Amino acid sequence: MRIIFATGNQHKMKEIREILGDIGLEIVSMKEAGIEADIVEDGKTFEENAMIKATEIAKLCDDIVLADDSGLEIDYLDKAPGIMSARFMGEDTSYDIKNQALIDKLEGVPKEKRTARFVCAIAAVLPSGKQIVTRGTIEGMIGYEIAGENGFGYDPIFYVEEYGCTTAQLSPEEKNKVSHRGNALMAMKEKLEKEVPNL
Ligand code: IMP
Repeated sequence: MRIIFATGNQHKMKEIREILGDIGLEIVSMKEAGIEADIVEDGKTFEENAMIKATEIAKLCDDIVLADDSGLEIDYLDKAPGIMSARFMGEDTSYDIKNQALIDKLEGVPKEKRTARFVCAIAAVLPSGKQIVTRGTIEGMIGYEIAGENGFGYDPIFYVEEYGCTTAQLSPEEKNKVSHRGNALMAMKEKLEKEVPNL
């Protein structure tokens, strides 16, 4: 038995392997497992979308399937882009453009109103059919300029007060320790260890 992670995003796979590294099962991406699927993410929440992906892939294999859905909620924009984070301004638009557009939308907005969070829901479907969902978040603020080269997506505009920098300026280890994906995956790891013997 393996863990198949239902994502095509190599950045996420890297973070997932770093975080779940010591789990006693091989972790493979959908591509590595030879699974192709075009899944319509039409849920209304991060949890629903993660479970839609995990359930669809679980139909195609006998392994433990994990899937995530994540995004950025900006309070001043009524929690946009939220579940639309990947699709905001089009999937093919570069994050330099998307990040600058979000900074522009917050022009003149004072620091205390720039609050935001990354959210990550992880869904698991076990070979028994049992479903598990966990959620992790990290609180921050939208910065005034793009900063940092690490990470991906909206990391260069997500400023974390505690560290005094954006998540794109943290090392991968530091980001994984505090990130939404790190928190949700650690919670999932604990639940899996209870459910799956000898993990
Ligand atoms: P999905 O979960 O693949 O539907 O897409 C989530 C989208 O949210 C990503 O494509 C990024 O735009 C954004 N996102 C999620 N997690 C992170 C993160 O850790 N850093 C930066 N952006 C993120």
